[in-house]
Amino acid sequence: MLIFFGIWFWIMRRVSGGGAAHGFLNLGKKIRIKPDTLPKITFDDVAGAESAKQELKETIDFLKAPEKIQQLGGRMPKGVLLVGPPGTGKTLLARAVSGEAGVPFFNISGSEFIELFVGVGAARVRDLFEQARQNAPCIIFIDELDAIGRSRSGPISIGGHDEREQTLNQLLTEMDGFDPTSGVVVMAATNRPEILDKALLRAGRFDRQIVVDKPDLQDRVKILQLHTRRMQLASDVDLDIIGRRTPGLVGADLSNIANEAAILAARNNQTEVTMDNFEDAIDRILAGPEKKGRALAAEEKRRAAYHEAGHALVAESVPTGQPVHKISIIPRGVSALGFTLQLPIEEKFLSTEDELKDQIAILIAGRVAEQITLGNVSTGAQNDLEKASEIARSMVCYLGMSKKLGPLTYGKRQQLQFLETEATETRNYSDETALLIDNEVKAIIDEGQKRAQRILTEKRKVLDKLAEVLREKETIHHEELVALLQEAD
Ligand code: ADP
Ligand code: MG
Ligand code: ZN
Repeated sequence: MLIFFGIWFWIMRRVSGGGAAHGFLNLGKKIRIKPDTLPKITFDDVAGAESAKQELKETIDFLKAPEKIQQLGGRMPKGVLLVGPPGTGKTLLARAVSGEAGVPFFNISGSEFIELFVGVGAARVRDLFEQARQNAPCIIFIDELDAIGRSRSGPISIGGHDEREQTLNQLLTEMDGFDPTSGVVVMAATNRPEILDKALLRAGRFDRQIVVDKPDLQDRVKILQLHTRRMQLASDVDLDIIGRRTPGLVGADLSNIANEAAILAARNNQTEVTMDNFEDAIDRILAGPEKKGRALAAEEKRRAAYHEAGHALVAESVPTGQPVHKISIIPRGVSALGFTLQLPIEEKFLSTEDELKDQIAILIAGRVAEQITLGNVSTGAQNDLEKASEIARSMVCYLGMSKKLGPLTYGKRQQLQFLETEATETRNYSDETALLIDNEVKAIIDEGQKRAQRILTEKRKVLDKLAEVLREKETIHHEELVALLQEAD
């Protein structure tokens, strides 16, 4: 009997225990949500993002001593929504708030709900809030809020539509139901605030929004410092230059770069991580890994050298061109034959009309160089042309930089909808205007092409020289380029 009961007991334990966490057996049963047990982090682990940290201070003060604010009759916002592009450290900041305040952190991701069975999502939200109330003061953090909070009037998603709506309704109910003085703060993160259901943003719900932006130069350097602090760095490593080379990248990318550089160093059995490792790591992140297996055929290599030399020469010749940091004909990513990297001197938020025109000339220069030197063009310029056309079209349609069309905007860009990768555009102009737009775009591109042609024909000798060196060395750095150009003058 004892053995029999022993076995029976054991089986029951297995069935109801953690073994089948997501299985049918758990359906209807209470899903225990436990506070996060990851190592505690603080604001010191988040580099930069000062304004976001400043705004979160208030929340931390409240979590540390909810009674104080209550006594003064103050009321805390119930919900704090962190808004910003992916990888900017929203999740990191939320965890740091819990670390700073020393309170439990209940973490759940919006996308987890989507996998659940009908009815379970709502139950899960209920349980989450119940747990939180018992553990107050504490933080509930809903990552990727857009997965459940998408506007109910939006396009119907594939699968789990009802489920999502039920979950969302339950979340709204819970947020309305709890007492703001109870010491529970609901935080959430999203990178697409525009698609959130308006009901979520109403007063008494996520009424406080904190923007977490892409880091600027200073913050990028700080993030790099943070992620390299345990690395053995060679003396030639200059984090400031790395920061300058990475405008537009976010914390997650920078952390990847640091990591990749360390891996490359380890692969070469180095004892220190060098600047070259970082350069390679950045190229990898920006342009995809080098294609070691696909060496360029001699003819292709000649073409790539002329193409890249064309970009570089025009970039150095036009008035507003940024200095060329590096030219390379080592193939990277999917289609690029090589690449020419320009290094912005300072961070740019605005571009003038002249700068855009110069940019177009630089983009087209690769193709023009092929045409001038080899007498024909190749498929290698497709990406350049796409970018150039996009700039030219924006100039005409959105930036009012065409004299003929004037300072109006044409066409309305639609926001991205769920599962769409490219923004659609609705036309709000006549066929005649469409024709005019096309002509203006073409005129801008033609002008850019003419300029590139003029520059490259004038400096044909330098172009040939540059291509020759490039073919030989495959990569030219800024200093070498400057020396080559001076020699030619
Ligand atoms: P998000 O939630 O905004 O998509 P995460 O918080 O998940 O971004 O960030 C991903 C990773 O990027 C973090 O784990 C961290 O290593 C790094 N990171 C992002 N921003 C920062 C920052 N400001 N300081 C330090 N590391 C950062
Ligand atoms: Mg995140
Ligand atoms: Zn090109």
